[in-house]
Amino acid sequence: MRFFVFINKRKGFIMSSDLMRKYIDILESKQMGTCPMCQGSGRKAAGDDKWASSYSGYDKATHTLPCTNCGGQTMYGKATGQVPLNKEGQPCLHDYEGRNAGRCYTMYSCKHCGDSFGIDSGD
Ligand SMILES: [Zn+2]
Ligand SMILES: [Zn+2]
Repeated sequence: MRFFVFINKRKGFIMSSDLMRKYIDILESKQMGTCPMCQGSGRKAAGDDKWASSYSGYDKATHTLPCTNCGGQTMYGKATGQVPLNKEGQPCLHDYEGRNAGRCYTMYSCKHCGDSFGIDSGD
């Protein structure tokens, strides 16, 4: 069994790596993990989607689209390959629920992690 010890000499502070990790988790308000949809690549296979080439961000050379789980789902966002963790502490595979938030504006929020974004469908 591997056991790491973190020592802060000034305070004589000793912490196991597990405790250290927990401490870091508390400090970081939004924990992120590798996107389960694209495995962190930020791209997903376009498959046999005949409309693929009309979507923004479509890449002809690799026949892929921006991942719609880690940023590509938002209006101006970029797929980063990183997603917030859900309540179980796992990288979230989002399940968005949309609700109308005014004229032509829909707010989507994930049932698992609370991640949210808005889409303006007005013209
Ligand atoms: Zn992704
Ligand atoms: Zn989510």
